[in-house]
Amino acid sequence: MYIDTHCHLDFDVFDEQREELMARCLGAGIKHFLVPATVSSRWGRLLELSKQYPEWRIAYGLHPYFLKGAELSELDNLATQCEDGAIAIGEIGLDNWPGSLSLEVQREFFIRQLVIAKSLALPVVIHARKSYDLVYQCLRQVGLKTGGTIHAFNGSYEQAQRFVELGFVLGIGGTVTYPRAKKAQRVLQALDRQSYVLETDSPDMPLYGFQGQMNTPLSILEVAKSVAIIRNEEVEQIAVDSYDNLLRVFPKWHEGLL
Ligand SMILES: [Zn+2]
Repeated sequence: MYIDTHCHLDFDVFDEQREELMARCLGAGIKHFLVPATVSSRWGRLLELSKQYPEWRIAYGLHPYFLKGAELSELDNLATQCEDGAIAIGEIGLDNWPGSLSLEVQREFFIRQLVIAKSLALPVVIHARKSYDLVYQCLRQVGLKTGGTIHAFNGSYEQAQRFVELGFVLGIGGTVTYPRAKKAQRVLQALDRQSYVLETDSPDMPLYGFQGQMNTPLSILEVAKSVAIIRNEEVEQIAVDSYDNLLRVFPKWHEGLL
C-alpha cells in the first residue's frame, strides 16, 4: 500500500479528471492522500472535496508562497477551522524565492501558525525553500511539541538530522528520480528508515522523464522504486517504512474523520 503524503488534489486542474484519477490510484494500491491547504479562500472547497473522498486527509494553513494579499486576521479562525477534520496544519513555512513576500512578513505568518499548531497539539506540514536553517530556528523558538513533514526536502544530511531530532520526517519526492540530483540521493542513502515519507507534490514536481507534464499521485509508485534503488532496499520495505513513519508523525491519520 502506498500513500501520497503531499499532493494538491483540490486544485482546479484536477476537476475534470479527479474522479477517474482517484479510481486509478486506488486500483494501483495508492490508498491515502494528504492534501494540505494553500490559501484560506480554498479551505471550504478542500473540506467539501474531502467529504467526497474518504481517502483524503487534510490540513489547513496559509502557504508561504501565496501570501500576497493575505491578512494575519485570516488566521483568527484557523483553530476553529481545524476542528473540521484537519490532521495537521499546513502547508506553512518560509519560501525564500523570487516572487515571495519578504522573509520578515512570511515569518510572522509562519510563527502565528506554529503557535496555533502548538496550542492544538497538531503536527505541521512544512514548505521550506532555501530557508531550512531559518525554519529550524522558528520551530525551536515556538517549541513545537509535535513534529510533521518537511515537504520536498532538499537539504543537507546535517539539516535533515536536526529536523528528525525535532520529530519530523522528510518528504521525499520526484527530485531523487533525476540523475543529476546526486546530493539529494546521497542524503536519502544516509537517512535511517524512520526518517522519511513519500510524496509527489502533484500537480507540481514531475518526475525525471516527465518534465513539463502534470504530475499525479500515480507517480508515487515510481518515486518508491527510485527510493528502493537508491537505498538498496526492497520496494515493499520502502512502502512499509514510509507508512509506519507517517502514522507516527500524524497520529490522527486513522481517527474516523468526518
Ligand atoms: Zn505543496
